[in-house]
Amino acid sequence: MKKLITGNEAIAYGALRAGVKAVTGYPGTPSTGCLSSLLAMNLVDTYVEWSVNEKVALEVAAGVAWSGHRALCTMKMSGLNVAYDSLISVAYSGCDGGLVVYVADDPGANAGMCEQDSRSFAVMADMPMLEPATVAETYALTKFAFDLSERIKGPVFLRLVTGIADSYAEVEIEQPVPVSQAAPLLIKDIQRFTKAGAVIATNQHRDLIQRLEQAGQITDEVRLNKLSLSVKPGGLGILASGIAAAYLEEGFEAAAPFGFNREDVSTLEIKVVHPFPVAEARKMLEHCQTILILEELEPLIERGIIVEAQRMGYRGKITGKLDGVFSRIGEYGVPQVVQGIESVLRLGIPENLLSGNTQALKLAAARPITVCAGCPHRGTYIAIDKAIKKLRLKKNEVMVTGDIGCTILGMNPPFDLIWTEISMGASVSLAQGYVHAGVKTPVIATIGDSTFFHAGIAGLVNAIQHQIDLTLVIMDNRWTAMTGMQVNPGTPCNNGASAYQEIDIARIIPALGIEHFWTVDPFDVEETAGVIHQAMTLPGVKVVLARQECAIQAQRQGKQAGKVRVVEENCNLCKLCLMVTGCSAFSLGANAIEIDPELCYGCGVCIETCHHDALVAEEA
Ligand code: SF4
Ligand code: SF4
Repeated sequence: MKKLITGNEAIAYGALRAGVKAVTGYPGTPSTGCLSSLLAMNLVDTYVEWSVNEKVALEVAAGVAWSGHRALCTMKMSGLNVAYDSLISVAYSGCDGGLVVYVADDPGANAGMCEQDSRSFAVMADMPMLEPATVAETYALTKFAFDLSERIKGPVFLRLVTGIADSYAEVEIEQPVPVSQAAPLLIKDIQRFTKAGAVIATNQHRDLIQRLEQAGQITDEVRLNKLSLSVKPGGLGILASGIAAAYLEEGFEAAAPFGFNREDVSTLEIKVVHPFPVAEARKMLEHCQTILILEELEPLIERGIIVEAQRMGYRGKITGKLDGVFSRIGEYGVPQVVQGIESVLRLGIPENLLSGNTQALKLAAARPITVCAGCPHRGTYIAIDKAIKKLRLKKNEVMVTGDIGCTILGMNPPFDLIWTEISMGASVSLAQGYVHAGVKTPVIATIGDSTFFHAGIAGLVNAIQHQIDLTLVIMDNRWTAMTGMQVNPGTPCNNGASAYQEIDIARIIPALGIEHFWTVDPFDVEETAGVIHQAMTLPGVKVVLARQECAIQAQRQGKQAGKVRVVEENCNLCKLCLMVTGCSAFSLGANAIEIDPELCYGCGVCIETCHHDALVAEEA
């Protein structure tokens, strides 16, 4: 059956086709859609969970695979850093059931964070990595990745980039394979499943390297990489991997009017990023006078072919990033293919074909991203601002560290409150560093609920142990909202799942021995500001839990916080409400400010910003 699916969904369907027993992951753009789509299917025989973080997700998946069943673990590139401690150990041990680790990179940093090239992690872990160039290939390679994992008895990486993870294509989907109901293996083998001692560890390392070599032999046998040599030797050869390979033909078409002849060019489309396809690369070197490498981010393939070229005494030219033709930054598309062709063949291709459609970029509105209408974080930002002012301090005198997720949007206007963002949970620990450095004004850390569970809790434990003067504001909107409303351990419901226990942050904090702890409603800005102000004046670790459900999610459940009305005759269009809240429900009318009833959640945060009684609460 043909289905229009994304790259993320292709992995989901591919895993079902492979009879996957368990799927675990932590949400993170651009990988989220894979596990989300499986959850939406309400599968009976396949267990699917959003885990508390990627390390936990990987360990759960490893347990399934060590028991002889198939498991998929999903994460974005930043999550791989979290999971990597365990992953490298799991790679050493190998696995009996197929274990596929799906990591999604984000060249161009479309979702913020870094342009991490996770292919290097495969090299470090001696793990095979497959990288499809299209959605259809993603589906096929997912099934293959499970088979490969079981043949080599080791985990296999599957890597996508944003351009494939979120792209749609029609793919022929086969019937899922029934999930194995075989009894789990219980293998007691400390030589494989522990790391205690140099002998055990080095033996496992040896096995790991052998598994990687075996993976290379298998992928060579099945000809996963697509090699196409021109009839006439001595011309141009292009190595392309990932999404760059998908743009080759379009690039060739664009260059054709300028004398480019497809028949004269050899291509190697690389689907097996690691181990490097030595035999095919050597064939290209033997056949071609010039080698062009097209790959996003780091010059990984380029370095691989340079090594082979040196071994062979290759006398031709190799061009890519290391000689400065291409950038390590951003996404690749047709312009990069054309640019590469032009740099080698000098066909006189006009500049506009090399730089792509910059017009679209110019037209993009340059406006800061802010929180949604009715977002509870708005009240918290305004309250922190008020608390700072109550202490007769200015915003640029009080360090407010930020964290990953919607909560970071307090860095943007109109709030301009948050100074930093590193990684999941880092706000709490980074703040402690500022205290140690001798910052004299109160230091505030802000974090969301999901991020707190993911990694922030460890930073808090550290602060408590070392008795740091710190105010932590946990902005608990009950969902992992930024990535599309996934559940986290504090979410009050798990979308109907039977086995589920909510973990209440309000019970965790006192259990950690924190004396100064308050739960506040961020829609009550005055009370929240008063509590944060009080916290900032006290010594030691103080925690303020600003709890109110995400407005989007609440509205989906038919909830409404209240109703706010504009008293037109009182409004002088001073726009203060708009400037303080930045709420998108506001717009400028002819005589008064207007509130879009479709957008307004009735949070009431704006009411007190108006000094003319032009905003009033109504009975909902
Ligand atoms: S009550 Fe005010 S701040 Fe809240 S959503 Fe409506 S317009 Fe925006
Ligand atoms: S509602 Fe109040 S704050 Fe907003 S523009 Fe009118 S007078 Fe100014």
